[in-house]
Amino acid sequence: MEFALFCTKVNILILILALCSPCKFIQSPMDFGPSNLLETKSSASLDFGRIVFNSPSAVLRPQSPRDISLLLTFLSASSFSKVTIAARGAGHSIYGQAQALDGIVIEMDSIPSDIYIHKKRDDGSGFSYADVGGGALWVELLEESLKHGLAPRSWTDYLYLSIGGTLSNGGISGQTFKYGPQISNVLQLDVVTGKGDLITCSPTSSSELFYAVLGGLGQFGIITRARILLQDAPQKVKWIRAFYDDFDTFTGDQELLVSMPELVDYVEGFIVPNEQSLLSTSVAFPVHLGFMPEFHHVSSAKVYYCIEFAVHDFQAEGTSAEQVVEKISKQMSYMPSLMYSVEVSYFDFLNRVRMEEMNLRSRGLWEIPHPWLNMFVPKSGIKEFKDLLLENISPNDFEGPILIYPLLRDKWDANTSVPLPDAPTGGDGVEQVVYIVGMLRSANPASCAAGCLDDILRRNRRIAEAASAGRIGGKQYLAHHPSLLHWRDHFGRHWNRFAARKNLFDPLGVLAPGQGIFPRVH
Ligand code: FAD
Repeated sequence: MEFALFCTKVNILILILALCSPCKFIQSPMDFGPSNLLETKSSASLDFGRIVFNSPSAVLRPQSPRDISLLLTFLSASSFSKVTIAARGAGHSIYGQAQALDGIVIEMDSIPSDIYIHKKRDDGSGFSYADVGGGALWVELLEESLKHGLAPRSWTDYLYLSIGGTLSNGGISGQTFKYGPQISNVLQLDVVTGKGDLITCSPTSSSELFYAVLGGLGQFGIITRARILLQDAPQKVKWIRAFYDDFDTFTGDQELLVSMPELVDYVEGFIVPNEQSLLSTSVAFPVHLGFMPEFHHVSSAKVYYCIEFAVHDFQAEGTSAEQVVEKISKQMSYMPSLMYSVEVSYFDFLNRVRMEEMNLRSRGLWEIPHPWLNMFVPKSGIKEFKDLLLENISPNDFEGPILIYPLLRDKWDANTSVPLPDAPTGGDGVEQVVYIVGMLRSANPASCAAGCLDDILRRNRRIAEAASAGRIGGKQYLAHHPSLLHWRDHFGRHWNRFAARKNLFDPLGVLAPGQGIFPRVH
């Protein structure tokens, strides 16, 4: 185990001395090399959001789950009453969720990420699955499983996220309507609990821990290994975009697509508020769009909508993906002739955001603040939520995509820790369709300085609060809340279960302080 020490806080120092006999520690810049130390220090207090910067006292680079277990066992049995611990996957949180102010950050990528692929039997019985380390990236799992003609079923849009990081949240993309989120596609986990116990859990063994950890915001344990379901991977994908100028028609077609899982493999969509958004979202879509929409009307700004869906090439036996798309598109109501399609490899399709990343990096627009807001919105509130969003942004200069697409509630396991929105007040029971809306805004310092960023964050909070209350009935995904009261509201009727699980698996509140839910117990 390697330990980088950043400040001489007495308790952390004693902790290191107490632990150092069986392991290798790096206690000073001399041991570690000053540049490495600084790099590690800054990376542990940095995330994709670039809004919160909490420095830890130490960074641990474990070589095995046992190192993590040793540390947590020690902390829970000792009087190091203020030390907190955050696992850090790829650090792609927005609001410091993987940071630990004056605590210890565990860099999960230091555990060797061997990936083992298990194929189902030749007679077709059993499951194909992968055993993969919690700190490995989804792109690594994709690359390895494709060598066997296999791939996970459910994805996020961006693949340079860690297995443990997305399983702690949910993991959503255009396949979620069909297979559920990534947390619905896990067979087994190895977890080190807040008490230091190293436990293998599944739906049938230590199931309370298994479900607690899935979507559990890192509160109950650290995922050191996951068993992920795999399926046969297609070679190619037919990738389609269709444009709309009417919101009801747009969502009507999205809901039509998710009602055809036997034909459709992926469904997303986004709002097109300005020309720039059309260009930037097209970076990874290698086709010339003959679409030059008019965004300015005499009295108001006009916005457009785009559905993105995909069909795997081997999908319908005896029928080509082309024919499947033709069959589907006949039932859709997009603007005349505004449907475009490309055929790309499965890997390139799944890795499409990487191309946008490279483009933004080359323009210095990747490592900038990202005041993102993600919300689940029940179908009955989606139009009102869209209006609320558009009232609160200036369509002319909005930078970044605004994703909006439907998910199906019955693909989520209610035993996991993710709280989906309840049926809205006055609604008629639980709605099957829930939209995910991601306002993935960039705040370019060249045009949006500190005051402007604060203003966006205030607006986000207003939108989230207005959408959580009353008729819309939304709930944040990748939530960020300012107080315990807000968190209780967030979990609603699931709060008691969430708090009881915390008490069971991390009673001292050591883990994931950056989420700001539970205080450290002294
Ligand atoms: P980190 O930021 O490192 O950690 C997040 C939280 O999980 C922290 O609380 C941390 O302590 C905890 N954690 C990390 N590793 C572990 C572990 N091994 N065990 C237990 N807890 C752990 N999300 C989607 O669902 N769909 C998307 O399409 C999507 N696209 C994205 C695109 C981009 C460009 C970015 C930046 C984010 C995107 N996200 C998406 C959000 C992403 O899933 C979350 O931010 C996720 O937490 C990122 O994983 P990470 O490894 O970076 O987590």
